[in-house]
Amino acid sequence: MRLYNQLTKKVENFKPLDPANVKIYTCGPTVYSFAHIGNLCSYIYWDLLVRTLELNGYKVNRILNLTDVGHLTSDADEGEDKLEKGARREGKSVFEIANFYIDAFLKDFRSLNLVEPTKICRATDYIEQDKELVGLLREKGFTYETADGIYFDTSRFEKYADFARLDLENLQGGARVALSSEKRNVSDFAVWKYVKDGEDHAMNWEYNGRAGYPGWHLECTAISHAELGFPLDIHTGGIDHIPIHHTNEIAEAEAAYGVLMSRFWTHCNFITIDGEKISKSLGNIFTLTDLASRGFSPLDFKLWVLQGHYQGTRNFNFDDLTAAKSRRLKWRNLVARTYQSAEKENSQNDFKEKILELVSNNLSSPEAFAEIDGADLALSDWQFVDKLFGLDLVATSPDVSSEVMPLIEAREAAREEKDFATADKIRDELAAKNITILDTPAGPIWQYLA
Ligand code: AMP
Ligand code: ZN
Repeated sequence: MRLYNQLTKKVENFKPLDPANVKIYTCGPTVYSFAHIGNLCSYIYWDLLVRTLELNGYKVNRILNLTDVGHLTSDADEGEDKLEKGARREGKSVFEIANFYIDAFLKDFRSLNLVEPTKICRATDYIEQDKELVGLLREKGFTYETADGIYFDTSRFEKYADFARLDLENLQGGARVALSSEKRNVSDFAVWKYVKDGEDHAMNWEYNGRAGYPGWHLECTAISHAELGFPLDIHTGGIDHIPIHHTNEIAEAEAAYGVLMSRFWTHCNFITIDGEKISKSLGNIFTLTDLASRGFSPLDFKLWVLQGHYQGTRNFNFDDLTAAKSRRLKWRNLVARTYQSAEKENSQNDFKEKILELVSNNLSSPEAFAEIDGADLALSDWQFVDKLFGLDLVATSPDVSSEVMPLIEAREAAREEKDFATADKIRDELAAKNITILDTPAGPIWQYLA
């Protein structure tokens, strides 16, 4: 396989250390609101990564975390904990907020037909590991204490700027005026925050004699170390993670344990909507529920996402989503037709190898889709397409067929007897089941209407 690696800034050959245990860590959502379609893109691309690895014969061991504490509204360790903010907004406890939005996220995750991670880890279940990690960093002299927490001194970690190619001098210069806290360097970050006097922070634990909670970056380092061990094979996230979140995870992991954290770091790009950034103030935040209310299934959206490469900038609009929905309908109907054809078992010689080779080359799903459009596929080819992309193209065809075939035969019989009223009634009955009948030279076949 080939995959982009942010460590080297190029596409490289990927081989896991242990093919029977490919260790992947995916930064998951902060569970204080519904996921919007931008958030969901990354999980769709990493689903393709996992499926591609598995079809190449590897066994994937993948951890996804859920951030239910410590992610502040500002990346500069200022502002409010997002969970506390959600709790205030909805007049609920942080625990209720976390549980509610975890359920919502998992529902979205499953409706997109995404392969379940080996384990899904809640940040608050790893507080002991967090404390151990903070302890190691303190012991090794990488931290200092301020009034509001324990900070990582980034000037002590030599390669801090390399991962994101940060220009630290400029960063430092630009922020000198704004640097009002006790931070020594602008890039320093909290590994542990203390609950301030009078601050309402329901999720807190005692450490160093005070109530506090882990910094956001810490949970990913602690969880991935505890569950998978370093080095990971691949660490994934969105491009926004490169300059701060992942840069800081690397600093924590490599300072504490003295080993490489992950061999590959792969990030997906952001989508815009009608050319604009996704933001509350522009009112362009769409969830899967919003798409459903406009008649789009989660899998139509998944197909739209996979039509573009994970590293490209993407612009979302409803015309393009409509086109993606039509493409999926066309594919489902090709499957339906193949399913009803006598030649459904004649597989194309090298179709499966070809699309697997395309996606194995840095997840080139758009090229693989072009291949699907250009080929005349047998049922087993479509089954392979489903294994690779999880678009549910084949799943329902056998059931539909066994249900509607008797109706189609009854309609044929009615027409032969010139009983057109009955024939029309059956046609309407089929339409209610989202099925239409197509008369072909080989006889009538069923197709999906939508
Ligand atoms: P959050 O739960 O708010 O931390 O968001 C989770 C992740 O979703 C972010 O860190 C990004 O990697 C990703 N994300 C947010 N907005 C977009 C977008 N417009 N396009 C793609 N990914 C996004
Ligand atoms: Zn993370």
